[in-house]
Amino acid sequence: MNLKDVSVAPIASLFYEPDDRERWDDFLTMALSEALQSVPGRPVNPILDINVFRQTLQSFDFQLPRPLFELLPWVIDQLQSGVVQMTHPRYFGLFNPSPSFPAECAERIVSAFNPQLATSTTSPIPVEIEAHVIRSIAHRAGLPPGSAGHFTTGGSEANFTALICALTNANPRFGADGVAAFAGSPTIYVSQDAHLAWHKIAHQCGIGRASVRLIETDHLGRMELSSLFDMIGSDRAAGHTPVMVVATAGTTGAGMIDPLADCAAIARVVGAWFHIDAAWGGALIASDRLRGALAGIETADSITVDGHKWFATTMACGMFITRDARLLSDAFHVSTNYMPSNVQHLDPYVTTAQWSRRFLGLRLFLSLAAAGWGEYAKYLERSVALIDFLKEQLVELGWTVANDSPLAVLCVEPPMGFPSVRSIVRDIVASGSAWISITTFKGRDVIRICVTNGRTMPRDIQALVRSLRHFARGGEDLARDSQEEGVK
Ligand SMILES: *Cc1c(COP(=O)(O)O)cnc(C)c1O
Repeated sequence: MNLKDVSVAPIASLFYEPDDRERWDDFLTMALSEALQSVPGRPVNPILDINVFRQTLQSFDFQLPRPLFELLPWVIDQLQSGVVQMTHPRYFGLFNPSPSFPAECAERIVSAFNPQLATSTTSPIPVEIEAHVIRSIAHRAGLPPGSAGHFTTGGSEANFTALICALTNANPRFGADGVAAFAGSPTIYVSQDAHLAWHKIAHQCGIGRASVRLIETDHLGRMELSSLFDMIGSDRAAGHTPVMVVATAGTTGAGMIDPLADCAAIARVVGAWFHIDAAWGGALIASDRLRGALAGIETADSITVDGHKWFATTMACGMFITRDARLLSDAFHVSTNYMPSNVQHLDPYVTTAQWSRRFLGLRLFLSLAAAGWGEYAKYLERSVALIDFLKEQLVELGWTVANDSPLAVLCVEPPMGFPSVRSIVRDIVASGSAWISITTFKGRDVIRICVTNGRTMPRDIQALVRSLRHFARGGEDLARDSQEEGVK
């Protein structure tokens, strides 16, 4: 390609001049603000015909350039109608928060500079900022000085990192020889209510899905210690190598916390790595009033905590933290002739699963710096109080509470004679008045309601109670009818 055969002017549709940039940035700021303000007045659930949308998509054949003034409003419109609205105050869903504003600011800044965090040479200050946040979380969780870790794309990558560390710790030949290094096949232990990405993780790590032992839970959904102990014993007798015990601090369905210190003691006795998956519940370390529920977290060899769950950062922002920083270098080291540095314990590309790396940690840094632990504590406590408020009202109406979680999640069943949990949830979600979900707890379908939005107010809880009553009314009438019949 010869310079005289091309136009060397920067491509205007991709690389904007400063004045134009500013104009479009301002336009976006205004359009987003308007869109977000309208969310609470709109359905929580996407209401659209996906076939019509697929037709529309066909018109994007990417032949002719289209102007941003057409594209940006179009995309914002699509997101207003085409997703479950995480920023809606009546989104009582999975642990996806309405993001903190400092986290949104961080994303904008990071996008503008687009720093490469693979090495400390290319991004010395971001690498220090991330390490500082990780140390602060480790300290707050009670892990010893010298603990280290990094930001991940989420809890799944952090849990994957835990398994790689456990295998590397269990056998120094694992890195070179893979699972063949083990005399007996490696096994890992999680409760049956744990996050089932563990199956995918075992698959990815090469130990196989069958190596994941799902341990029974007690009547409240917490890991049954005697079952754990027995399972490890029989696996050892069969020649397997137990490499990791995972306790969950905040199960996905019911928000239960496994007995952390007891699981740690068992892991220690059998010589296994002890990991705590606190992807959602880990945020409780911020509240002095609530953090007692996490007692024992300080015994972990490693922990997973997500920024994008109860720390309310934007996705994707997880954390992996371990007391044994050396293992991260053992597990992820590599040498090349083109990277600008190769500093053990420091350069992210030799201590983590990723290579090119976004400045993920700035969102939590800015959020923590702007709010401090104290304001985070209030944010967590109000979520728990709102769930307690909901619980009181539903109990008064005769509903049954299935779980007993210190976190902001409630699992309930309607009174006898009401429509099924499935039909109540389906009708409420379809109405767009709130977003709630179904989970199975101890083998029964229950309605799962989680406060995830820092702007949810008591009036939103009251509106949810009204929806629950309304969509259960068919059943209420039925119940009344059958009662009257009984009286006759
Ligand atoms: C959310 C969650 C995960 C998965 O984390 P992602 O951030 O979605 O990858 C794993 N474990 C628990 C307990 C979770 O709550």
